[in-house]
Amino acid sequence: MQEQNSKIKNQIRSSLKRGKLVHAYAFTGGTAQERTEIGMWLCRTLFCEAEEKPCGECLACRKFLHGNHEDFILVKKPQDRESIVKDQILELTDRLMLKPFGSRYAVLIEDAHLMNAAAQNKLLKTLEEPASEAVIVLLSDHREALLPTVLSRCVCFSLTQETSAFREEAAAGKLVGLIMSGAEFYKKKAVLEDIIRDKDDPRARAEDLLNALEARLMALLKEESTGNGETSAEAVSRLSGAVKAVLEARKYIRQLHSVAYTLKQLCLRV
Ligand SMILES: [Zn+2]
Repeated sequence: MQEQNSKIKNQIRSSLKRGKLVHAYAFTGGTAQERTEIGMWLCRTLFCEAEEKPCGECLACRKFLHGNHEDFILVKKPQDRESIVKDQILELTDRLMLKPFGSRYAVLIEDAHLMNAAAQNKLLKTLEEPASEAVIVLLSDHREALLPTVLSRCVCFSLTQETSAFREEAAAGKLVGLIMSGAEFYKKKAVLEDIIRDKDDPRARAEDLLNALEARLMALLKEESTGNGETSAEAVSRLSGAVKAVLEARKYIRQLHSVAYTLKQLCLRV
């Protein structure tokens, strides 16, 4: 996931170096943490005064890192509401009419898919006639919940496919190694900790992991069964046991049992 994100960062960095200023960016997919990280990185890069951005040391970077950069505007769903409402976008557009303190504003809209239709339409007007001194960054895990007209005004980056597929594949590979070597419970659990703690979409990630696990175990099982007879009997029984446990875990995940509980049970059984 880091690799994919740093590729995106390099791409943005070099387009900024070429003086290409885009008025709106959208980052979709990935985890909430990944989206926030890259969104904040971009805003800081836009403010940074150094040659190599973001430097982390110039006045702008320091202000940003301390959470008091005058031209940084964060828009998010109020705690007591279900969505980002039109009034919030109106407030934003009013503010953008004023001159920024420095050279430009950077606006970060978290969970942009929570903007209701009225809010998105209002934002669209701003995107269509961008204030030259503002860059708007949208973060969302539901690309389809954003109006196509809004997306079409943004340079879009998807953090999803490459990232999560890689991540769960890698975890499955590690876990199979541990299963085959008869490793302790806590070692296996450690590999799955990242999914267990995921606040965003642990269920989808667990399912991806289980699919990857099943594929790897089945491939090994096939290899062992067609291999050298008696010597592999133990491995075969271990592998078939693991496949059974994986299938069961997937059933539980689909039946909406707790992801953490299901994955821990899996670690105990394999
Ligand atoms: Zn800086």
